[in-house]
Amino acid sequence: MDAGQSDTTNPVEADGFHVAADGPVRVVFGPGVRGTVDAEMRRLGATRALILTTPQQEAEGRDIADRLGGRAAGLFTGAAMHTPVEVTETALDLLRTLRADCLVAIGGGSTTGLGKALAYRTDLPQIVIPTTYAGSEATPILGQTEDGVKTTLSDPKVLPETILYDPELVLTLPVAMTVTSGLNAMAHAAEALYSPDRTDASDRLAVEGLQAFVNGLPAVVAAPGDVTARAATQRGAWACGTVLGRVGMALHHKICHTLGGAFGLPHAETHAVILPHAIAYNARSAEAELRPISRLLGGEAAGPALHRFAAGLGAPLALRDLGLAEADLDRAADLATTKPYPNPHPVTRGDIRALLQAAWAGDEPIR
Ligand code: NAD
Repeated sequence: MDAGQSDTTNPVEADGFHVAADGPVRVVFGPGVRGTVDAEMRRLGATRALILTTPQQEAEGRDIADRLGGRAAGLFTGAAMHTPVEVTETALDLLRTLRADCLVAIGGGSTTGLGKALAYRTDLPQIVIPTTYAGSEATPILGQTEDGVKTTLSDPKVLPETILYDPELVLTLPVAMTVTSGLNAMAHAAEALYSPDRTDASDRLAVEGLQAFVNGLPAVVAAPGDVTARAATQRGAWACGTVLGRVGMALHHKICHTLGGAFGLPHAETHAVILPHAIAYNARSAEAELRPISRLLGGEAAGPALHRFAAGLGAPLALRDLGLAEADLDRAADLATTKPYPNPHPVTRGDIRALLQAAWAGDEPIR
């Protein structure tokens, strides 16, 4: 469907929750909406849920299981970063033993990733309750790791049926993770602005997402327990995740994928560091497309403006602080430039090596 419908339709349901009409995906926003899983299962015709979490969020998973009572078939708490195939296979065995007929994932992108990997293999319906801003819940994209190699696929089976955004669940997200996860989400929207397959609707959604974080992140950093500000950032996560699923990404995502896959750098933090550098790089050829970012951030060029925005939020600014050795920059530049991909500004090995050097040191982005 046209993304324009999704950023304008926002009826309020009888129970007070906001619903976004988003084609095949039912998206519900509101404090306490995690309490509606049972009703959402009934909508999907499901009776036995397998609940998924990371070990760190077992308590949140148990809470959902307690609320579901006999309609909770079981709880799997082994979700892990990068969706390792061996974890998926263990969860698949449990799912079959329990005869579960739907998946309820509560957590960040890692937990959502496990739910998607199971849905890919079984076509079971998914209810996702996101607790970070990564946005994976709104895409048909699945990244999985096997023998240390990460591969990505896109399949309609992977797109969750229902998303429940409950701002009370992001209150526990530590401020540092809030900032990096928010910048991770903004990166999806920033690259959507210059995507070759962007539309007016995807542009509107990207700007809506960026605006939500430009306003919401400073508010959440100032008052992490502010449920209204948290709710605004969740709207942003949905908008940014949705555009990620609808238009192609470019240099920024390529570099982050390389740094995460080959050097094990943490996902959201890496996005936070690279974003100003990749955007400054591409502004050389896509200044007009990136103007909404300048406008939202006070008129300065998009790359430096993002650098200052991130610094003001206390985000990490240097790859060296994430554990990357300077000696790895040559290989990172090689890996990020071996295969050609669409990007607004021509990608050369020398220019990417310079970008990485600046990002490694935490310098202002090169323009
Ligand atoms: P994550 O899911 O790995 O979470 C990091 C840690 O924070 C985990 O221990 C988690 O349990 C904990 N956590 C999550 N929410 C919390 C909360 N509210 N309070 C306290 N702790 C909380 O991190 P992420 O950045 O959300 O996800 C990263 C993964 O998602 C990566 O593997 C990335 O590739 C994937 N991803 C996929 C897509 C896609 O479309 N396929 C999009 C974005 C991200």
